[in-house]
Amino acid sequence: MIDVLIVGAGPAGCAAAVYLKRYGFNVKVIEKSIVGGNVVFTNKVDNYLGIFDETGLNLSTKFKEHLKFLDIEIINDQVLSIEKKDNFILKLKNSTLESKYLILASGRTFKRLGLENEEKYVGRGISFCAICDGPMTKNKNIVVVGGGNSAFEETLHLAKYAKEITILVRDEIRADKYLFDKVKSLDNVTISLKEEILEYKGDIYLTSIVTNKREINVDAVFLYVGLVPQIDYLKDLNLNIKNNYIIVDKNYKTNIDRCYAAGDVIDKRMYQIATSVAEGVEAAFSINEDNI
Ligand SMILES: Cc1cc2nc3c(=O)[nH]c(=O)nc-3n(C[C@H](O)[C@H](O)[C@H](O)COP(=O)(O)OP(=O)(O)OC[C@H]3O[C@@H](n4cnc5c(N)ncnc54)[C@H](O)[C@@H]3O)c2cc1C
Repeated sequence: MIDVLIVGAGPAGCAAAVYLKRYGFNVKVIEKSIVGGNVVFTNKVDNYLGIFDETGLNLSTKFKEHLKFLDIEIINDQVLSIEKKDNFILKLKNSTLESKYLILASGRTFKRLGLENEEKYVGRGISFCAICDGPMTKNKNIVVVGGGNSAFEETLHLAKYAKEITILVRDEIRADKYLFDKVKSLDNVTISLKEEILEYKGDIYLTSIVTNKREINVDAVFLYVGLVPQIDYLKDLNLNIKNNYIIVDKNYKTNIDRCYAAGDVIDKRMYQIATSVAEGVEAAFSINEDNI
C-alpha cells in the first residue's frame, strides 16, 4: 500500500512528488513515457523563471535528477484504469498498485487533424517534436501546421536544418509578436494563411499532402494544432469533467475523496510549466494538510 500515487511525471507530477517526499509520504510516480512530459518536446523553454536559454530536454533531465536525489521511485508504465474501493486500485500494463491518495497529473497530448491515414504516418513523416526529429529534416522540404506559439517557436528550431518550411495556418496567427517577427525574418520560411491539409499521400512514408489550395511534396509534416487532455484511463472514476478537463476546487481536489489533480489535465486559464508546477505543489500541500 502506497500513501500517494501520482499519474504523470511532467512538471505537475514531479513538483508534487518532491513536496510529498519532503513531507514524509511514501510516494511513487507512474510515467508511461519520459520524465518531463511536454517539456521534453520543447525546443527552448520560455517564461519559466530562472530558465532562459535552455532546452526542454535539459530541464526534463533536471526534473529526473531531482526525483532521483530525493529517492523517489518512478514506475515506467502506463495506467490503464483506476477504480476506487476503500483505496485507489490502479491497473497498469504490467502490474496493479494500490494507494490511499491519488494525484492525476497526466497532462495533454498533441491533437491530430483527424484525417484518414494520419496515425499510419505518425513517425513516418508526421511528427510532433521538432527537437527530436529536427536534425532529420536537413536539406528537406517540410510543412509546419498551426498558428500558435508552439508552431512558431518550433519552426525557429526546424529552420536551422530544413531547406524550405511552409507554415500552414488555417485560421489566424496567434503566436506572440516577437516570435512571429523572428519567423518572418527567416529566408527559408513561408507562411501561408487560410490553408489546411485535406489529405495525406504516400506509401509507407508520407510523400505529399493535398491542401485546400494545392498538392505539396513533403519530407515531413510537424503538427502543432493544439493539445487534448489525457483522461482515457479515468473512465471508471466518476470525475467531474468539463470539455474533457478535470474540475478541481481551490485545493486541487476533485469531486472524489482523496483524489487530486494538477497541471494541464485540469480546467484552468494558463497551461504553462510555472502554473503546472504550482498546482502540483498545492495538491501535495492539500494532501499533507489532510493528514495533520
Ligand atoms: C511544443 C510545446 C512547447 C511548450 N513550450 C513551453 C514553454 O516554453 N514554456 C512553458 O511554460 N510551457 C511550455 N509548454 C507547456 C508545458 O509544456 C506544459 O504546460 C506542461 O508540460 C504541463 O505539465 P503537466 O505536468 O501538467 O503535463 P505534461 O507535461 O503533459 O506531462 C504529463 C505526463 O503524464 C504522462 N501520462 C499521461 N497519461 C498517462 C498514463 N495513463 N499513465 C502514465 N503516464 C501518463 C505523460 O506521458 C506525460 O509525461 C509547451 C508545450 C508544448 C507542447
